[in-house]
Amino acid sequence: MNPVSSKKTPFTFDSIEPESGLKSALGKSRADIIAEISASGLRGRGGAGFPTGTKWNLAAAAKVKAGGNKYVVCNADEGEPGTFKDRVILLEHADLVFEGMTIGALAVGAKLGILYLRGEYVYMRPHLDAVLQRRRHQKLLGTAIAGREGFDFDIQIHMGAGAYVCGEETALIESLEGCRGEPRNRPPFPVDTGFDGQPTIVNNVETLAWAACILSRSAHWFKSIGTDKSAGYKLFSVSGDCREPGVYEFPLGISVAELLQKVGGEGAKAVQVGGASGHCIPASEFSRRIAFEDISTGGSIIVFGPGRDMLEVAKNFMEFFVEESCGQCTPCRVGNAKLLEGVGLLERGECSMQYVQELLGLSETMQLASKCGLGQSSPNAFVSIVKHFKDEIMGRTLVH
Ligand code: SF4
Repeated sequence: MNPVSSKKTPFTFDSIEPESGLKSALGKSRADIIAEISASGLRGRGGAGFPTGTKWNLAAAAKVKAGGNKYVVCNADEGEPGTFKDRVILLEHADLVFEGMTIGALAVGAKLGILYLRGEYVYMRPHLDAVLQRRRHQKLLGTAIAGREGFDFDIQIHMGAGAYVCGEETALIESLEGCRGEPRNRPPFPVDTGFDGQPTIVNNVETLAWAACILSRSAHWFKSIGTDKSAGYKLFSVSGDCREPGVYEFPLGISVAELLQKVGGEGAKAVQVGGASGHCIPASEFSRRIAFEDISTGGSIIVFGPGRDMLEVAKNFMEFFVEESCGQCTPCRVGNAKLLEGVGLLERGECSMQYVQELLGLSETMQLASKCGLGQSSPNAFVSIVKHFKDEIMGRTLVH
């Protein structure tokens, strides 16, 4: 395995007795499974942080249309730059993820699960197919799961094709349906009208693995870790200028400074929390907490050492968004190109402070008016770099 993808701390997942979460769920009613997940405080680990219990509850209450079925989709389209923790989970804890999907199916009444796997992870396919096949032989998938009549559920794998925007749940569903991966207008939400027009829960790989742990260990255990608003542990993909890059498990609420100390990133100039769509945190704010109430993240941590050129960092992220915007709405399609153009002007020392202010105004418009999370979050890095590293990036500016 690539050393960057390896575990640097033990994972709680290592200590969970296989299938103990599913066994516990089978002894509960649907409402009690959802109540347990809600009481745990589990929020989506893909970055958005939506309460998992609420999502499951809405899908459980939604009616299927014209004799169809409900669906559980595992979002394994791990494409945020700097994120590689789902890769490790799927390679080393695939059973726990499939167990979480099965518990989700039991809770909402779904018959089919789909793992939407990032195209670049195609090398994992034989391993994941083998795990699914073994689970069918063990009666953990298929008809009458674990001997319970009427509980029928199976899981298929669908390969993504490399578009970052398909990590957005409605674009992912479009892609699953064989269409171009473009985000949909919401509402309706997938919990009501998702894959094939049916109620669908879309959860991140890590979220589903934690759901299985919670059913195994209890909501109380999970809730006792982290902070009031951000319960539990979180996996972090750490890369960049630090001595020990890799995948770490820490409780939510850890400060940026504590995290840097654990990964050998002391002396960093800045940390990008949340990948390209996240925020650039300067050293003066390293006491801030990584939690939904302060700096939220899907798990990507990129460390920038003292020698990094922050304008180069902004350029790198903006090039990424110009490439990955699906082009459906104007604020994102045009806005990202204008911000990249602005970075070019800054690089050449041809950008006035007044034009930088106009670009910040454009960023605000993009955050407010873009149709999906990609365009709403793509200016974040540019805005935070301009805010915190103004002297560095304006040092090249010709004053008009
Ligand atoms: S915000 Fe960007 S990615 Fe999202 S729909 Fe608009 S153009 Fe597409």
